[in-house]
Amino acid sequence: MVQDRGPTRLYLMGHSTDPEIRQKSASGGVATSLLLHLLETRQVDEVAVIGMDNERPVARLTGDPQVVRDSMMSKYGPVPMLATLIPELRKRPRRIAMTVTPCQLGGWVRATERIAKLRESTVLALGLFCGQIQSYDSITSIAATLGIQYPGEAKFKAWRDGPYPGSASFEFLDGTTVEKPLYACLDVAVPHFSLHRCFLCPDGGNWLADITMGDIHHGGIDETVIVCRTLKGQLAIKSAQMSDMIQIQELTLAQVEECVIKGITRSKLLPAIARNAWLKERGDAAPEFDYDPATLLQRFIKRLVPFWIWKYRLTFWARTGWRRRFLLNHPATMEKTGHFLYYFPATIPGYTVAIKAAKLFLQMLGTNVRK
Ligand SMILES: Cc1cc2nc3c(=O)[nH]c(=O)nc-3n(C[C@H](O)[C@H](O)[C@H](O)COP(=O)(O)OP(=O)(O)OC[C@H]3O[C@@H](n4cnc5c(N)ncnc54)[C@H](O)[C@@H]3O)c2cc1C
Ligand code: SF4
Repeated sequence: MVQDRGPTRLYLMGHSTDPEIRQKSASGGVATSLLLHLLETRQVDEVAVIGMDNERPVARLTGDPQVVRDSMMSKYGPVPMLATLIPELRKRPRRIAMTVTPCQLGGWVRATERIAKLRESTVLALGLFCGQIQSYDSITSIAATLGIQYPGEAKFKAWRDGPYPGSASFEFLDGTTVEKPLYACLDVAVPHFSLHRCFLCPDGGNWLADITMGDIHHGGIDETVIVCRTLKGQLAIKSAQMSDMIQIQELTLAQVEECVIKGITRSKLLPAIARNAWLKERGDAAPEFDYDPATLLQRFIKRLVPFWIWKYRLTFWARTGWRRRFLLNHPATMEKTGHFLYYFPATIPGYTVAIKAAKLFLQMLGTNVRK
């Protein structure tokens, strides 16, 4: 157990050996290949995946490999997964594997504590790292930055179409498509449309899962980053590797420090803990978690707390009243302000240079600065 990274047995990176899966998946396609392997080797009866129906994500419980293939790729919108899973599995418990965000898994674990039939069902929780999800009006604003009126003029195809990391894509009636690269879409979607709860959610690393999968996000490689959290999870990965469904390698310590494994601690866990503590101090409602702010928000990290609070305050200031109305009517400005807020405080002029100088100064003084 690494204190700020959750239960950890092994850090891996890998990809599917099926070229079509690797091409069409979110990162390396390990999630899809692992689900197919578990079905093929009858380690599970069915799997829970998120497909698309009428331009919206839907949860499906399936034993059909084609449905699993059709469900590849991340869907960045709310999916009421448990509303599908719980009634189905209460009727007929089965051994399942499921891809889940941390809050979906939290809800599932809570449900299994209360409903015995569900406890007979879970075999493997294949967790996804989770930065945030957005309400569906984000798609309208992303389309607006492309000059498309959505809904109406075009259909929404996917959040991450095409080669890694992919682009949001819209299809016109005549079959032509228009795309907007992922990171430009995130500038619009993340600050302006992420659910409020995501700003206060510390568990981007999916600590309750058997494994957690994410994008490496460094150097733009189409590989899946994998944290094996339980023995069950580690054995499932090993089994898929032995069947040549996936190729994996251990991450070096340097790679761990450069990818989402460290990134999610900095971008979600610590800011959420700091924001929840701040809200409580003000007497405002805040979600309860059992992380210990005193041990996690130490020394150098403590200096970042005001920035995390300001990021949260500025974001919701921009999302309220006349500012919201103005930005909805001016998509290009929405994208620019979104970029500023998404990468805040690094977008404050001079911030990055000042941080580098402060680190250098402290190193010269011989102080142990945690990177
Ligand atoms: C909402 C969300 C936020 C994410 N945020 C981050 C992040 O900040 N940083 C990061 O590194 N990675 C994040 N990920 C994980 C990343 O996008 C990939 O899912 C992960 O790298 C696995 O890639 P893959 O190629 O192996 O998956 P694929 O082979 O493409 O398979 C993805 C699987 O996930 C399922 N799925 C898709 N959307 C959802 C959903 N909303 N809920 C549950 N299951 C779903 C699909 O059914 C499919 O089975 C996020 C994923 C989601 C869904
Ligand atoms: S950030 Fe947290 S609350 Fe938001 S979707 Fe992800 S797991 Fe759920």
